Amino acid sequence: MRVRVGMGSCGLAAGAREVMEQVKEEITSRGLNIQVQPTGCIGMCHHEPLLDVVTDDGVYTYGHVTPEVVKAIFDEHIVGKKPLEKYLVNSPEHQNEFLAGQVRIALRDCGIINLWQIADYEEHGGYQGLRKAITTMTPEEVINEIKEAGLRGRGGGGFPTWFKWQAARQNEGAQKYVVCNADEGDPGAFMDRSILEGDPHTVIEGMIICAYAIGATAGFIYVRDEYDLAVKNLTNAIMEARRHGYLGKNILGSELSFDIEIVRGGGAFVCGEETALINSIQGNVGEPWDKYVFPTEKGLWGQPTVINNVETWANVPVIIREGAAKFASIGTEGSKGTKVFSLVGKVVKAGLVEVPMGTTLREIIFDIGGGIQNGRKFKAVQTGGPSGGCIPESLLDLPVDFDTLTQAGSMMGSGGMIVMDDRTCMVEVARYYVNFLAGESCGKCVPCREGISLLLETLTRICEGKGKLEDLDLLESMSSTIQKAALCALGRTAPNPVLSTLKYFRDEYLEHINNHR
Ligand code: SF4
Repeated sequence: MRVRVGMGSCGLAAGAREVMEQVKEEITSRGLNIQVQPTGCIGMCHHEPLLDVVTDDGVYTYGHVTPEVVKAIFDEHIVGKKPLEKYLVNSPEHQNEFLAGQVRIALRDCGIINLWQIADYEEHGGYQGLRKAITTMTPEEVINEIKEAGLRGRGGGGFPTWFKWQAARQNEGAQKYVVCNADEGDPGAFMDRSILEGDPHTVIEGMIICAYAIGATAGFIYVRDEYDLAVKNLTNAIMEARRHGYLGKNILGSELSFDIEIVRGGGAFVCGEETALINSIQGNVGEPWDKYVFPTEKGLWGQPTVINNVETWANVPVIIREGAAKFASIGTEGSKGTKVFSLVGKVVKAGLVEVPMGTTLREIIFDIGGGIQNGRKFKAVQTGGPSGGCIPESLLDLPVDFDTLTQAGSMMGSGGMIVMDDRTCMVEVARYYVNFLAGESCGKCVPCREGISLLLETLTRICEGKGKLEDLDLLESMSSTIQKAALCALGRTAPNPVLSTLKYFRDEYLEHINNHR
């Protein structure tokens, strides 16, 4: 028998540290020989703090655990051998709908493995993908496997991962680099943070496999500065990987030498854009550059560089270990595999969700997320982060993949999903996101710097009851100009919250204008 306690940021915020202390106290005072493991977040943030009792019959998960509940679990379940029904949220007999509706590849180990022990990652198949790549595959075969899997970048762009790897492999360079973009800055998004906290080795393993494929010798993980726990767990994982021969010189006895350094971002949202990220790692101002030259040709210090985000790296070890065909059998024709979403807002069961590409918004929000809080009516879901769009009820049956959401005027982005109920003012929502982007624009190019400010001024005027009908034309024409002329993706996608709310909730704009005439 083992006890696991979820020690991710969400668990700690809800009181997991006190739960862990009580678990240790119960084991000591009762003289029990039970292993206790800290894990990351399993995704059921709505039930934190979580405690698992792992038995020969299966895993019993308790939610909303307090130190008093820990005592009761020990009395009734661990000593008394009878599960404590009142606090059970998942058990072999009654599988939780939130988890049952998911297919977990990137999140396969989160909330399950001991986040401090590399041995636990290895026991769950960890580093087998790397071993297979280095000992049985050529670099070209590794890239081809990623191609056959159909893996597209999970950071938002959906660019084919193999294409980047092949370009970086083919381009000449004195040194090549592999970078993990962990600068997760979207409001409401915590997919990357949870993977880094709960399963840091999967990211490290994915990066080493890429290093082998492209011939890189150095890697960087660029982490959002606020992610203290992620940095702590990553630092420990990198040191463990070095000790076990997965990082450093002659990895697993091969000719591959590769190591990883953590770089903490300075808090600028634009540094999630890969050329701004490169500038930031090099110690320059975090501004994007024109992408006439791609980072795979001239990236960090002018050398070929592959940049992928946390979730993309987390998929790589599984694809190599289990083969491309298995991964490609999940998802849709154009979007293979799964996608992780942080499901938040007015939904009953907020948390981390991983579903096959092509799952509908309705299935995610209602079947997995349990619908809208307090029996209210659904109004919209915002996908794709601050530059995404708001999708109305009429499109709830849209399958979620890279292309469909873009056609609907939103985008998948890195996976933020914010649910709104019928009390939400959609004009205020547009203003909130545009205000965020106005503050995060780096100011390098005029269409973004001035254009987003003008959008914000206009939206504020409308929200304050001083808007005119002509303002709607101004919003549309200014949005069109920004989309065409802004230098980087932050600017080009910034009008999405305005255009999607104008398209699907125009009556709310008109109500603001007409009611104050
Ligand atoms: Fe900076 Fe905005 Fe121009 Fe991007 S589009 S370079 S964020 S000013």
